[in-house]
Amino acid sequence: MSFFQKIKESAMNAADKAQQTVEITRIHTRISSKEKEIADHYKEMGKCVFDAYVAGDPSAAEANIAEYAGKVLEIQKEIAALKHKIMEIKNEKPCECGTTAPFEALFCPSCGRKFETVAKEPQALALAEGPATRHCTVCGGELETGDKFCVHCGAPQSAAKEGIDE
Ligand SMILES: [Zn+2]
Ligand SMILES: [Zn+2]
Repeated sequence: MSFFQKIKESAMNAADKAQQTVEITRIHTRISSKEKEIADHYKEMGKCVFDAYVAGDPSAAEANIAEYAGKVLEIQKEIAALKHKIMEIKNEKPCECGTTAPFEALFCPSCGRKFETVAKEPQALALAEGPATRHCTVCGGELETGDKFCVHCGAPQSAAKEGIDE
């Protein structure tokens, strides 16, 4: 690749990255405002309980509480969806073991745990990179260097077997 092509490419990647950052910031802002909505609902719930208590009938608050709780649960779902979106943009998701796995991974490449959420078609994984791709010894799916478990089928991979299988 020529020097200028390289420059052009890295500039494009930088633009993509910038675009991603803008999008992620936008989503974070939406999450913050949703979290504020939840906090407001909590306050309103507290006020209902207090008023009912003062009026001598704590159970009177129940209907209101149920309504606010329903709203909070809805908003929590929206927040979860937004967080999911961020992981999708960054192409990563956290595993309980502390590793960050590719967003599309079905299994953690580090500990082999199966992810519960299955995102998209597995073939979307094919978009990745360079020549020295490792493949799963069981299902043949593409792996990142250093993956101890196949992200597609969860089969353990021997670390020794680097490079392309013949
Ligand atoms: Zn893991
Ligand atoms: Zn596999």
